[in-house]
Amino acid sequence: MRATRAIIHLYQFRKNIQAIAEVLPKETKICIPIKANAYGHGAVHCAIAAIQAGAQFLAVASVQEGVELRRAGIVTPVLLFSLPLPEEIAEIIEYGLTPLVEAQDFVDLFAQAAKAEGKRCPVHLKIDTGMARVGCPPEKAVELARAICQTDSLFLEGTATHLASADSLDPEDIAWTRTQIARFNSALDSLKNAGIDPGIRHMANSGAIILHPEAIFDMVRPGLLAYGYQPILDWPENRQAKSPSVRAVMEVDTHIVSVREVAKGEPISYGRKWIAPRNTRIATLPIGYADGLPRALSGHFSAIIRGKAWPQVGLICMDQCMLDIGPKTDAPDSPARWDRAIIFGPDAPAADARNLAEKIGSIPYELCCGIHRRVPRIYLNAPEEQAQLS
Ligand SMILES: *Cc1c(COP(=O)(O)O)cnc(C)c1O
Repeated sequence: MRATRAIIHLYQFRKNIQAIAEVLPKETKICIPIKANAYGHGAVHCAIAAIQAGAQFLAVASVQEGVELRRAGIVTPVLLFSLPLPEEIAEIIEYGLTPLVEAQDFVDLFAQAAKAEGKRCPVHLKIDTGMARVGCPPEKAVELARAICQTDSLFLEGTATHLASADSLDPEDIAWTRTQIARFNSALDSLKNAGIDPGIRHMANSGAIILHPEAIFDMVRPGLLAYGYQPILDWPENRQAKSPSVRAVMEVDTHIVSVREVAKGEPISYGRKWIAPRNTRIATLPIGYADGLPRALSGHFSAIIRGKAWPQVGLICMDQCMLDIGPKTDAPDSPARWDRAIIFGPDAPAADARNLAEKIGSIPYELCCGIHRRVPRIYLNAPEEQAQLS
């Protein structure tokens, strides 16, 4: 086994989804986004765990990601969040994926292809209420929904929109979310007036579940919360109670593979950007930017060894980076070769993925989904399994 790995606390992922379910009205369906290899956590394992935890829908971005789930034997409905190309329609039908549709021409092509296969396929109507990414204008919703209903090869299983700033406490962002909810409600009213059943209505991402319960409708699509990060920090104390208590699912660790004594004045790593300010020891970790440890973090984070934080120094290389672990002492927490070093994970507040991401102007989503496929994922199905890890 490689020294560097991503430990996926799957039992925690299931617990997070159950904690989300507890804050929702009883009949609310849950769709778990499995896009981007399940935010870097591993698509198939997370999809199965999400289903075990009660998710009725999964969601991916690309057709290829949906095919990966189907080939693994997963039969749960899979929504396609991003728009496919017309040439991907055959695969969408073959693998039974559910596209979000926003345009008449795509509906026509999809209906034709489904008909040729003798199938009746579900679609969700996507309305753009203020994100300007995908979705039809609200005033086109009736026309498009009618077009879907008039085919005999498609059916309108759901109607959706997406929120742009649901995770913000800024009053203007909150006002914008309310505008989006109002636009969605008015589009739903116009469908109702036209005698069209919108099916499963859904808009809420993680932020909305907590801050905007009126966005919950029939189904929610929490990603970040399910993977264990609060969408909103700096809560006013009085709102804390509403937020499901979740914990990070991913832990990235590695092991010290080399320790060397360096004299004061010796340069460390490429470009000699860090010069030892005193006689010290340098530990080498076999993790670098190709594993998803952003080079921009060089000199800006610490790894946790034997419960203590040690600063990373010098430039992060493609496959390795170095730590200043101080002069050798007899203390039991003094790092040694082969020691486990935690880069980020649920157990160390000093090594939280969000803290790490924020140091370089990023977000935990980007850090987690950037952990490269070459980093083996180790799946823990129960907390006790942690003990088997060295
Ligand atoms: C990624 C995504 C979500 C999940 O958002 P989180 O902030 O992770 O909860 C929901 N809906 C759509 C359309 C998405 O693309």
